[in-house]
Amino acid sequence: MSRKRKAMSVDTRCKEYRNIFHVDDNILFCNYCNVSVDWKHKSVIDSHCGSQKHISNVKKQDDTQNKTQQLTLSSAQAAADSKKRLIEDLIEAFAIADIPLEKVNSLLPFLKKYVKNGGSIPQASTLR
Ligand SMILES: [Zn+2]
Repeated sequence: MSRKRKAMSVDTRCKEYRNIFHVDDNILFCNYCNVSVDWKHKSVIDSHCGSQKHISNVKKQDDTQNKTQQLTLSSAQAAADSKKRLIEDLIEAFAIADIPLEKVNSLLPFLKKYVKNGGSIPQASTLR
């Protein structure tokens, strides 16, 4: 068994800084700044990671990700709200028209076809 120290490769270096860099054609690239960084010297990488430009790029990216997540969450919330409102209004409309809720089942194909969100109307049995 050879005790020789394993030569540092660009891949090994990249793994030391997980999620910060990626390797392309034996060159180490910063995921945030989109610049190549000399991977042979750890000090160069460390100083890149500590640079104002890199830190602000990381922050920018994190902010964007947070905003995207919030957006996804609120649109899911809006969809759930509109579904709830649709069902409540439907039940109310049936009550006002004095139509038994069971009748909703025969209207479902129509609603699914013509009403936005119609597909989310549950069967009568689940409305009570
Ligand atoms: Zn960077």
